[in-house]
Amino acid sequence: MLNYFTPALYLKSYEDLDPAWLVRRKIRLLILDIDNTLAAHDEQVAGDKAKAFVHRLKDAGIQAVVMSNNNKERVSRFAASLDVPYYYFSTKPLKRTYKKVLRDTGLKPDQCAVIGDQLLTDILGGSRMGLTTILTTPLVTRDIPWTKLNRVVENQVYRLLEHEEILKRGDYDE
Ligand SMILES: [Mg+2]
Repeated sequence: MLNYFTPALYLKSYEDLDPAWLVRRKIRLLILDIDNTLAAHDEQVAGDKAKAFVHRLKDAGIQAVVMSNNNKERVSRFAASLDVPYYYFSTKPLKRTYKKVLRDTGLKPDQCAVIGDQLLTDILGGSRMGLTTILTTPLVTRDIPWTKLNRVVENQVYRLLEHEEILKRGDYDE
């Protein structure tokens, strides 16, 4: 069970992700979470660092899409600022939208990775689909109300992961 919450890679920030790590694993697509992964939820467009990150991915031959449980307005605007395709109301950790991404790109699960800040959505959802999962620390402590609830459960999962010596908060892989 805890396997589903165990990321392949645990980083402080997306900025610490070296595209070469993905290339070595033959990953062709990175599915990006938005809120608290690339930006705070009240930042409407991508900043220069997020834009530079997506450019580094593309330079390494890796496609990027954003996939968020947030609404169309939020997700489409943010995606436009990064010039990448988007998936909104994605119902992570359900499989529905991941399947759509795979259909749209023609890729297999082992060619895709996800990066996000939440164990209960990004990591659980990616794991259920057999994707490579990358966990980051939330950019800021501000969260939308629904996420605040998720965080309560998430804290329990972090505790279990630490207890089983699988993952320790703040003890990053690179
Ligand atoms: Mg998030």
